[in-house]
Amino acid sequence: MKREGLILILSAPSGAGKTSLCRELFKTFPDIKESISYTTREPRTGEVDGEAYHFVSQEEFERMVDEEAFAEWAMVHGNMYGTALKTLEEARNNGVSLVLDIDCQGALKLKEQFEGGVFVFIVPPSMDELRRRLESRSSDSQDVIERRIARAADEIKESRWYDYIIINDDFEVAAGELAAIVVAQRRKTFRMLEQVGKLFDI
Ligand code: 5GP
Repeated sequence: MKREGLILILSAPSGAGKTSLCRELFKTFPDIKESISYTTREPRTGEVDGEAYHFVSQEEFERMVDEEAFAEWAMVHGNMYGTALKTLEEARNNGVSLVLDIDCQGALKLKEQFEGGVFVFIVPPSMDELRRRLESRSSDSQDVIERRIARAADEIKESRWYDYIIINDDFEVAAGELAAIVVAQRRKTFRMLEQVGKLFDI
């Protein structure tokens, strides 16, 4: 039985805990897959092509833009990132649920152009806490941290047009809320009708 997969779009400022929440989501729902984006940024140590990202040259990325291969793309921190249309179409055709970890610009493009996505924004509990997390977790210079904080303030303003907002104060609570959103979306009538039809022959 093929049911319509869920396309979950997650955005958050750097330091809000999106990566950990995603990891938890994949543990809770092993059938949910991660959308692998294309990017022109250099792989970080340990990153393998085709796992975190498809790493491509600037020329290759631009060729894909020209060929309209992207459902959305954006410039983030000086690098290009994009979600291939093919990734979304394949998931949709095969009833696969996907999580897209993308920035607000890309998410807005999808919201305008791609029907049926569920948009979730994750915020930290406060700017002070965001600063504390960024300072404690990384070896980034103070300059980079300040830039991330300034950018976070702008990004958080974008949360207003998302479908859901999660405040990641207590990790367990936030992970539970994200799971609750997935369950609620999966129980939407249009996703359940086929199953109910078969169960009760209606
Ligand atoms: P990083 O380079 O640290 O993995 O990601 C940097 C930023 O790029 C993150 O905010 C992430 O959400 C965003 N990003 C990753 N993939 C995509 C994508 O396909 N499209 C857009 N618009 N943003 C992306």
